[in-house]
Amino acid sequence: MGLLNSFNQWKETKYQNHVSNMKDQAKCPDCYGRGYTVYPYNEFAYFNSFECPGCQGSGQYTDWEEMR
Ligand SMILES: [Zn+2]
Repeated sequence: MGLLNSFNQWKETKYQNHVSNMKDQAKCPDCYGRGYTVYPYNEFAYFNSFECPGCQGSGQYTDWEEMR
C-alpha cells in the first residue's frame, strides 16, 4: 500500500499548498473567493451556481476557516 499512501500524501500536499495560496489572498479555498461553486458536469444544474458551503457564500478565507 506504499504507492497509495504516497499518492494520498501527494494529494494532501497539493491541497495544503492550495489552501496556503488562498490564505495569502484571503480567499476561500473551496470556491477560489467567488462565493459560489459551479457544477458544469450536472446537466440539470448547468446554468445554476450554488452558494459555496465552505464559506457560506462570502468567499473569505476567514469564514472558510471558521466553518471547518
Ligand atoms: Zn467558498
